Amino acid sequence: MTNNNIYFVANWKMHGNLTSLNSINNVIKLAKSKKFRKIKIVYCPPYTLLEAFVKKTKNSYISVGAQNCHHEIEYGAYTGFINSKMIKNIGSKFVIIGHSESRQDGDTDSKINLKIKSALKSNLKIIFCIGESLKDRRKNKTNSILAKQIKKGLQNIKKLDNLIIAYEPLWSIGTGIIPKRNDLEKNLNFIRKNLNRIKNGNKISILYGGSVNTNNISNLARIPQINGFIVGGSSLKSKKFIDIIKKSII
Ligand code: PEP
Repeated sequence: MTNNNIYFVANWKMHGNLTSLNSINNVIKLAKSKKFRKIKIVYCPPYTLLEAFVKKTKNSYISVGAQNCHHEIEYGAYTGFINSKMIKNIGSKFVIIGHSESRQDGDTDSKINLKIKSALKSNLKIIFCIGESLKDRRKNKTNSILAKQIKKGLQNIKKLDNLIIAYEPLWSIGTGIIPKRNDLEKNLNFIRKNLNRIKNGNKISILYGGSVNTNNISNLARIPQINGFIVGGSSLKSKKFIDIIKKSII
């Protein structure tokens, strides 16, 4: 991979506290170096750390994103939720929507569509996650699931400039298993074909996520259809995350 516009999204899930903030010092340093200045590093910590991350990364080459948002854009009686306006308001620029762990917790395709619309209105960049389960894959339903997630998730959305797709096969997240290169390329090509049907869809970046680590990154980074990575477990320790970034860029 060359270093232009390649995303490295650190999805911290339900991990971290204020002390963990210092662990990103070396990543901030790396992002400032000339060689890596054009890559896009995005930290997505839990809501509790968003503001601290925004302050910590101010004037750095690192952006901050939330891991989800409520679909309602206005303030209201939604106990326990955070909306896109609040996320934008504290200085975050990104939001992950449709992550499989949020889908498992009740996010349907139509709810995801509302969340994307709300995040677009709030001027956030959206990392829209799609991916098939092992059951779908075994039943040869990967294409139909991916097509449905794209179609329903992006229904009636015209402006896609702020959208990034993350292909994350569910069976690969947190399992240490990654798809075979042939399968991965086939699925990424299928996603690209679906996006190309949409106006300006050819400009949308496609990321890969699922068990990216320091051992498999060199091979993954050689796949031309991939415009960056979402990294979960291996982003928690900055040494590993840095290693992943360094090994990706030639
Ligand atoms: C994720 O949850 O988005 C992810 C990619 O996790 P992991 O890297 O741990 O598989």
